[in-house]
Formats: sequence, C-alpha cells, structure tokens
Amino acid sequence: MLRAPAPQQVMILFVKITIEELSKKGKTYKWEKHHCDKCQRDMWGHGFVMRYFAEALDGVYLKRYRCPDCSTVVTTRPETHWNSIRSAILTIYRALKSKLTGLWPPGFPRQRGLHWLKRFIDLAKMENQNNLSWFLTFCFAKQLRFFT
Ligand SMILES: [Zn+2]
Repeated sequence: MLRAPAPQQVMILFVKITIEELSKKGKTYKWEKHHCDKCQRDMWGHGFVMRYFAEALDGVYLKRYRCPDCSTVVTTRPETHWNSIRSAILTIYRALKSKLTGLWPPGFPRQRGLHWLKRFIDLAKMENQNNLSWFLTFCFAKQLRFFT
C-alpha cells in the first residue's frame, strides 16, 4: 500500500545579513551551519531560492537547509525583511511614520504607501489602537509586525 509522504514543513530562518552583501557575494556567501529545531542535528544544504527585494535590482540567492531526519526545510531570509514583503521593515516604518505625522517622504511611491497604511490601520483597529503614530512606534520598537 502506498503511503503519502510526510507533509514537508517549510520554515523561515531570519539571519543577520544585508541585501547588499547577498547581492555582492551571491552563492559564494559563507552561510553558517544550522541545526534542526526539532531534532537538534545539523541540517544539510538544500540549494538556494531566488528572492527579490526593493533594495536590489536583481534577485538574490537565499540558502535553504533540509533536516536529514525529519525533512524539515528551512529557507533563510534577512532579518531586515518580513516574509513576503520586498521592502525593508525600516523603510516601511519610516514611510508610515512620516505620513502619520505629516506627508509621505519626498519621492516615495504613494500607491505603495497607501497599501501599507491601509494594512497598518486594519491592524490598529483590530488591536483597538487609536493613536496610530504611537502604535506604529510601539510595534517597531517591540519588533512586532505592523501589518499582515
Ligand atoms: Zn529535524
């Protein structure tokens, strides 16, 4: 009888690295070893994935790891960027902060800013926060994701 393969879990490992460094070094960047959180054993390299960020014209390669025991796959991501968002957290924070206390930063793409603002306001409403500027700073300081 055929058995379905165990569901493969994909997790994200946030690492201290800059987009600039990744762009410059590409696949030659020396990634640190990573242990499986479940099994505590060394994970094996599992190739790379290309991801695009606002700070680089071309895609950058991010390392993946796979646990030989439980098959968990981990994809790395710079800690400066939330999952599935191309812009840096700091960029988003600065743009929203600027708008909430006045205007968008000069030359900032308004369309993108409005999209972020709407999502931030949705979160603030869900959390019953009326002081948006304070709430934004609070989330940023506590390293909480301020939109989903
Ligand atoms: Zn494992």
